[in-house]
Amino acid sequence: MPDRGSTFRHRPTVIWDPRFLDYDFGPGHPFVMEYRGLAAHLLREISPASGGARWQTEVPVADHSTLLRFHREEYIQLVEGASRLERRIWLDSGDTPAFLGCHDAAARIVQGSIDAVRAAVERSAPALQLGGGLHHAHRDRASGFCIYNDVALAVDEACRRVGKVAYVDIDAHHGDGVMYGFYARGDVLDIDIHQDGASLFPGTGDAAETGVEDGAGLKVNLPLPAGAGDRALVSLLHRVVLPMVRDYRPQLIVLQHGVDGHAGDPLAQLQYTRVGYVEVLRELFAYARSGCSGRLVVTGGGGYDPANVALTLARAGEILSGSLHGPPSSAALPAEWRDAYAFRTKAEAPRFWSDERPATPDAWTPAAEEALVGRLESGLGRRFPKVR
Ligand SMILES: [Zn+2]
Repeated sequence: MPDRGSTFRHRPTVIWDPRFLDYDFGPGHPFVMEYRGLAAHLLREISPASGGARWQTEVPVADHSTLLRFHREEYIQLVEGASRLERRIWLDSGDTPAFLGCHDAAARIVQGSIDAVRAAVERSAPALQLGGGLHHAHRDRASGFCIYNDVALAVDEACRRVGKVAYVDIDAHHGDGVMYGFYARGDVLDIDIHQDGASLFPGTGDAAETGVEDGAGLKVNLPLPAGAGDRALVSLLHRVVLPMVRDYRPQLIVLQHGVDGHAGDPLAQLQYTRVGYVEVLRELFAYARSGCSGRLVVTGGGGYDPANVALTLARAGEILSGSLHGPPSSAALPAEWRDAYAFRTKAEAPRFWSDERPATPDAWTPAAEEALVGRLESGLGRRFPKVR
């Protein structure tokens, strides 16, 4: 049962169409949509049939005119052509291959994220798009396993519907496609916490990058050194993210809830745990309920360890359903789900909700935080949040 029954009014919409699994780069590629499928499976098993979430399991392919709101015509045509080829070509310099049907697969994920915005606006309630979060795609090119940028198109849809939008990105990688796509826009506050560009793809997202023209001071980069963990995430959430969101007064929040910052991820070197993820989601959800009529859209994103992805995203669904912390670490995972996990990953499933612990002490220090905050203060000018 939700343990916030008195303050929780509307069930979240969870979006998972099994055809999202068509977004498949083939054997050996690190991006595996199936891990998000395991999150959907787990969330379904633990959510009570009468309460919990409202599911949308049928998502159409986004049409051409929708994709054109963010992507260039020539690029869409390139993807459509590559999508029909038996022979594989690269859509970028070597991370993102085309595959048969890749246009429809990627465009369906786009529509799922747009549907999440529609559900949040029409129901004044949160929405979780488990298959979304492909934040690296640019207007005219693929990048970093991302063909079409579903989160950028979700932000665009939200701006059209409600006006000002806050986009918060906690994926380990800088959300470059979204940030540069809206770099001059004053109706999008973009705050991105990520492993610094000196040590991780795509190499961008320095604290000095703060937006231009109407967007000046509204693009906020919080780069962290390898080895940083919950201490950095939680401290910067309260010191920078929440005050900036409050000052900006968005009408909707989009959270790119990538899971590759979790301790143990094979592609990134941050060390977040459930503590940091729960704090971010709970605080943004609380703000959305008080400040923007409950309109919070959460997407998945990166994440290359199947257990981290499945447990963290399923826990996010539970929290949006009204649970304060999600299932306790000591709770056993359902046997039927564990069988499915073992079958799909060819690895032994975790037994409990406990998550992987950091391998080394948190690399974030007070001195590093003061240096970063000082750089933000000079770069953001009057937009920098006042101390409260
Ligand atoms: Zn990532």
